[in-house]
Amino acid sequence: MNYSCLHTHTSFCDGNGAVEDFCAEAYKKRFVSLGFSAHAPVTKKTGLKTDWHLDDERLDEYCTAVREARGRWRGKLEVYLGLEVDYIDGLVSAADFDCAELDLDYLIGSVHYVTRSRCVDGSSGEFKKLLNEDFGGDAMALVDRYWDCMERMISKGGFDIIAHADIVKKNNRGDRWFSENDERYIKRLERIACVIAESGLVTELNTGGLNRGVTVEPYPSARLLRLLQKKGVPVMINADAHKPEHLGGFYDEARRLLLETGFTRHSVFQGRLDGRPVWKTETL
Ligand SMILES: [Zn+2]
Ligand SMILES: [Zn+2]
Repeated sequence: MNYSCLHTHTSFCDGNGAVEDFCAEAYKKRFVSLGFSAHAPVTKKTGLKTDWHLDDERLDEYCTAVREARGRWRGKLEVYLGLEVDYIDGLVSAADFDCAELDLDYLIGSVHYVTRSRCVDGSSGEFKKLLNEDFGGDAMALVDRYWDCMERMISKGGFDIIAHADIVKKNNRGDRWFSENDERYIKRLERIACVIAESGLVTELNTGGLNRGVTVEPYPSARLLRLLQKKGVPVMINADAHKPEHLGGFYDEARRLLLETGFTRHSVFQGRLDGRPVWKTETL
């Protein structure tokens, strides 16, 4: 299996390491390609101030740094320029970022925010606060909001890859807040699998939670993967790397999980042509 990663965060946002450090690590690990996906700036558009998004003022600098790396690594490693864009209901979406205008290779669409200021994937303390203060302790209401946002993000479109599809379960180890075997939760998984399949988008299998030691399984879960596989959804493996060592982390486990859930092939990005992403599939 050819390794690659399109989900990579450097020191430009909340990652740790320069663009060059990640390229060197990817080359060392014999990756065929590496894509950078800084958390797209949100402040100018939404007024939100965070410590994990790229600053609006540094967007050009980021793009230039990745483009220069592409030149340096030509012939050894394909380097792609992307962004991970937040969907914040009513505030910002991938539609606010024009791939052609910014000359980007791809956009990753993510739901982190389930209210206009709070994310579902913070620390367990932050999750508890979100649950109690915004959802009156009703975990299924929070879960429903998450999947509603995901459905809206997909129907709005404007991006190429669906990030960490069920990150709502990040803090739910051991079914701490809600049961992932609950009929209502399973129904939402079945529904989102249909929405994703209809969109034609590639979904990532994200090993970021494993890489950072905060989850015991990747996103999405085996159950959701099985549903996606049945509907013919294309998948790719990404590390959601926040430091160079994360590249390739838990990829063997991810590959095994894909095989166990019925997949035989994974998607490998080939760049952007005439405004559209080009993919090829390879045997796992
Ligand atoms: Zn993310
Ligand atoms: Zn990310």
